[in-house]
Amino acid sequence: MSIKTIGVVGAGAMGTGIAHVAAMADYNVILRDVDMSYVDNSIQNMDKFMARSVEKGKMTEEQRRVALERIRKTVVLEDCADADFVIEAVIENIDLKKEIFQALDKICRPEVIFATNTSSMSITAIAAGTGRPDKVCGLHFFNPAQIMRLVEVIRGLETSDETISAAKTLAESFGKKTIEVKKDSPGFVVNRIMIPQFIEAARLLQEGVASVEDIDTAVKLGLNYPMGPFELMDFTGVDISYFVMEYFADELRNNQYAAPQIIKQMVRANKLGKKTGCGFYAKK
Ligand code: NAD
Repeated sequence: MSIKTIGVVGAGAMGTGIAHVAAMADYNVILRDVDMSYVDNSIQNMDKFMARSVEKGKMTEEQRRVALERIRKTVVLEDCADADFVIEAVIENIDLKKEIFQALDKICRPEVIFATNTSSMSITAIAAGTGRPDKVCGLHFFNPAQIMRLVEVIRGLETSDETISAAKTLAESFGKKTIEVKKDSPGFVVNRIMIPQFIEAARLLQEGVASVEDIDTAVKLGLNYPMGPFELMDFTGVDISYFVMEYFADELRNNQYAAPQIIKQMVRANKLGKKTGCGFYAKK
């Protein structure tokens, strides 16, 4: 099946980036959120991003106009009936994701592939409620999707080879490098490596071994990472890291992954990083 139109469900940080790269790669996009103000905000963010690219000479005004025109805004899930491939990027809640995939299963043509951008959750569980588990996979973009080159392509228990191949081809047509995650395992590859580093950094802070700034400096200069663990947690949202840690602890039946107290307290006190401008680098 030739893929011309991509449905993107969820117009938050990730849905915006995914819709942006899809439109830039000449696909038509149907962008859906629950409220039109979220979709409008998403388009405004794309427009700002594209304006900077025009300023830097990375794209022309004409390309910007054409890319934005390719995006159809909607709050109606049924509009995804016209999509040839759907990518879901709603909040990290498995019940909501399952509900959306079940609804899409009734709306979309039987051959349409569904991908979830979940950071950690089970592709197999999300696929199970649909009548097409062979056509469901993970397509894990990184934030910001306009810039980050990697996409993890994840196989659920019943995902077919054809689905994995089509998902890889699609992500590569967006200009991304893909890796295949052969087993549906919590956090896939990148988060399975990143989250324990966040946990160790938080434990070092909790034990008073070093400060937030010094731990970040140590990781940046000693390991040559572009960002330290606290900077990265603030950027992605401390609440997201917290939920992923607790999910790992539960799914992998291993308390080593449980969120350290300091992170739990920040989430309880609502000092969540990107959403509040607070996080570990709280404005004092
Ligand atoms: P976000 O909170 O910025 O956006 C989520 C959007 O989903 C919101 O606009 C919300 O209104 C919308 N939404 C909620 N219910 C919906 C529904 N029924 N239909 C359509 N839209 C609905 O979240 P995000 O950071 O974009 O994350 C989205 C997904 O991507 C999550 O699964 C997350 O784990 C994953 N992810 C996030 C990052 C990151 O760094 N933020 C990186 C990779 C993957």
